[in-house]
Amino acid sequence: MVDLDRLKEGVRGKKLIVFGPPGSGKGNRSNDLKALGLVAISAGIVLRNRLRDEPNSDLSKKVAYHMKKGELVPSDIIVPIILGSLEQRDVLERGFVLDGFPRTRDQGKVLFSRIDSDLVLFLDVPRSFLTYGVIEGNRRVCPTCQKGYSDFDPPKEEGLCDICRSRLVKRLDDDASIIEKRLKDYDKQVKELLPLLESTGKFQKLSITVDKDEEIDERLLKKIKGEVYWVETDDGGKARMLNLEGMRMRLYNLIWEIFVGS
Ligand SMILES: [Zn+2]
Repeated sequence: MVDLDRLKEGVRGKKLIVFGPPGSGKGNRSNDLKALGLVAISAGIVLRNRLRDEPNSDLSKKVAYHMKKGELVPSDIIVPIILGSLEQRDVLERGFVLDGFPRTRDQGKVLFSRIDSDLVLFLDVPRSFLTYGVIEGNRRVCPTCQKGYSDFDPPKEEGLCDICRSRLVKRLDDDASIIEKRLKDYDKQVKELLPLLESTGKFQKLSITVDKDEEIDERLLKKIKGEVYWVETDDGGKARMLNLEGMRMRLYNLIWEIFVGS
């Protein structure tokens, strides 16, 4: 059994990287790891904070230029920014979970030459969920505190944020054509990145699905409007999916095996 205090002790100072397609729940997994004491570093948030804190610097102007056009921020700009966030004394002491970086093989090479990662976590989510499930789930977000909701994880009161009571808005990037484009971009990235990530020797897959005949507590399954959600798997079968609580348990079990031992 996973003992949370021992797990926190076990992951202290560890360097984790979370990787997966858009819509696979990287933010949620980062939050689960943050709850264990790791510093969560998201490339997107690091860039947005940089723009907020130093809006007039040359660097920020370059970042803003690329982000506005929906392009990846070039490596010569983003690599030093991310490495600067990771290589701070308190971050290295507490350990971190990084998501949204690396995006290219070259970025990965630089990262792994500087940082000796302890775990590269790949979130394995069926393609049909990424293309239809995300839209079926009707994702919305709180414009004030950024907390995300969907029909899988609805707010307590429809349309209002549980935390700050702001009115929720639809996620702008959840249009079918935008999702298709982001997945296409991701496919290109993953083709060149995956062999590098696997070569670290620290690569682990974390699947979101539950086999048809696996018995599991229904409270850990993803439901949509009260019904267990079945998804088409990449091999054409059907599977159930874990919900936030189920994924957190699976993640904690995995890192327990790696960093604490049974
Ligand atoms: Zn809110």
